[in-house]
Amino acid sequence: MDLGISGKRALVCAASRGLGRGCAEALAADGVHLVLNARGADALEATAAAIRAAHGVDVVTVAADITTPEGRAKVLQASGDVDILVTNAGGPPPGSWSDWSRDDFIAALDANMLTPIALMQALVPGMIARGWGRVVNITSGSVKAPMPVLGLSNTARTGLTGFVAGTARQVAGKGVIINNLLPGIHDTDRAVALDTGVAQAEGITLEAARAKREATIPAARYGTAAEFGAACAFLCSQHAGFIVGQNLLLDGGAVNSTL
Ligand code: NAP
Repeated sequence: MDLGISGKRALVCAASRGLGRGCAEALAADGVHLVLNARGADALEATAAAIRAAHGVDVVTVAADITTPEGRAKVLQASGDVDILVTNAGGPPPGSWSDWSRDDFIAALDANMLTPIALMQALVPGMIARGWGRVVNITSGSVKAPMPVLGLSNTARTGLTGFVAGTARQVAGKGVIINNLLPGIHDTDRAVALDTGVAQAEGITLEAARAKREATIPAARYGTAAEFGAACAFLCSQHAGFIVGQNLLLDGGAVNSTL
């Protein structure tokens, strides 16, 4: 399917690895020029070089922490006008509801709620002025089904979801479409980190922790960054203009609900 976005420009945050990279690859495969961000310059440059070589699109890199005001300023300056924004950052650490301090909550809200909101506030006005834009926020399946050890994520991402629900409906009439993608477990470094935590807590191997989690997923496997990226590219496409403020769960059926 031709997504109709060849030649557009996208900012994809936190994209040297994992789900962000999957989104960047899928957009590049459809001819979208990229601004890519991550903190570590080496992995970022390697990813950019691989995407340029595979897809022949322009790729600008900005090594910066997207969750800080300074990092965002650097990224936004390099981005200029973009047609597509994919927000992403590392997820908060696991823990227990009884232990998190105010500072822990502020850090999670900064990274996973206020950062994507600030990026939308910076870039959506330009999209409105040009009459076309797409925003995809990478959130988490924890928005639909809270995960006990990820209370910081449950909290911050639900706040972002509320902001998007209201904002998406205010800008859709101006050609700007905002949606959220909710990953369940995907085969990335983040999944290894989460499974390592389970393995340590339960005194089992990493392989056993993974097998245990896979047994809870109707699709009987972890998702891939490539299939996540394909869903992102579709939501950024010309065909997604009537999909407004939605929360698309990609979890292999793990959340057991009718809607
Ligand atoms: P990942 O494989 O660990 O990759 C994270 C990427 O983000 C890397 O490129 C990393 O590069 C970059 N990054 C992290 N923090 C950053 C920051 N502050 N500023 C800029 N770049 C940053 O993680 P992932 O699995 O793709 O997960 C992406 C998001 O989806 C996370 O928020 C995660 O919590 C959420 N999620 C993932 C899953 C899953 O199963 N994978 C499930 C639910 C939710 P640097 O380290 O060099 O900055």
